Amino acid sequence: MTTTTHVIQPGQIEPPVGSIPSIYIPLGAFRDRAQRMRQLAEGHVMKDYLLFMAELADAQHAALAAFPEVSLPTEAELNLCREHGMPPLSVQNWPRDPVWQHALAKIIAQVMKNATPEAREILTGLQAMDSAALENFASEVLSGQFNEVNLGAVPFVAAALQVYWAHMATALGVQAFAGNDISNLCPVCASPPVASIVRIGGNENALRYLCCSVCDTQWHMVRVKCTNCESTKGISYFKIEGASDAVKAEACDECGTYLKIMHMDKDPQVDPVADDLATLALDLMMDENGKSRSGPNLFLISNIAE
Ligand SMILES: [Zn+2]
Ligand SMILES: [Zn+2]
Repeated sequence: MTTTTHVIQPGQIEPPVGSIPSIYIPLGAFRDRAQRMRQLAEGHVMKDYLLFMAELADAQHAALAAFPEVSLPTEAELNLCREHGMPPLSVQNWPRDPVWQHALAKIIAQVMKNATPEAREILTGLQAMDSAALENFASEVLSGQFNEVNLGAVPFVAAALQVYWAHMATALGVQAFAGNDISNLCPVCASPPVASIVRIGGNENALRYLCCSVCDTQWHMVRVKCTNCESTKGISYFKIEGASDAVKAEACDECGTYLKIMHMDKDPQVDPVADDLATLALDLMMDENGKSRSGPNLFLISNIAE
């Protein structure tokens, strides 16, 4: 008996670039995320935590719906960025409007009600910070530093910043953006991905997208390729025994990192942030395998920055 092994090369199972949507901006991401957190919380060992995170996502959805108009890049600036493959709303360079702090205040007020005493203390601490201190905090979060901040407060500050960036990304719309020359950073805001997702339906069917850890934009990257160093060798997939096939860790021997990959064909409701939080056991397993995460989940910073 002859066995033939097919080796799938990156790009082989996908239409040529140009005929596929390179960028996808999900609408209603926070509302869907909250719903997914609640679904995943059922019978989960981290049930209370996931339910609280669902409330945080609900608060993000409410803050996004009430977000005021803010200044956006001009058409000329957007053109220039498209020409040069640069993200126009780079978290490092974009002059951040302090109005995101209003979103933070709203989010804090909404999640305070059902917060544990520990979380309440963190939230009260944030409420006591002045505007300048909050801007410093935001800069640390967005640069992936976390040297001088209370790690427990990161998810709340990040939640408000996510709302601000998601607001700008959706206000401009997908046509405003082109690819990023640095393919593993978001083409809208230049942040690293939280996870990648293999989508279903429409022109994106079976295509893999990286999901931004800040603005929720998804951008195309061929499969079977390391999302961190772009190596096509030594890629392997891990999952927890007995767990759903919808979430796996895609690991790379070349750079020693991993990022989770989510499959909508296995579970159409899969969400890059919620499913990442609900599969912490996989992170522990990858850590034991000597692999480190290549992109952050800003709701989980206290775990990765230990
Ligand atoms: Zn982004
Ligand atoms: Zn790699």
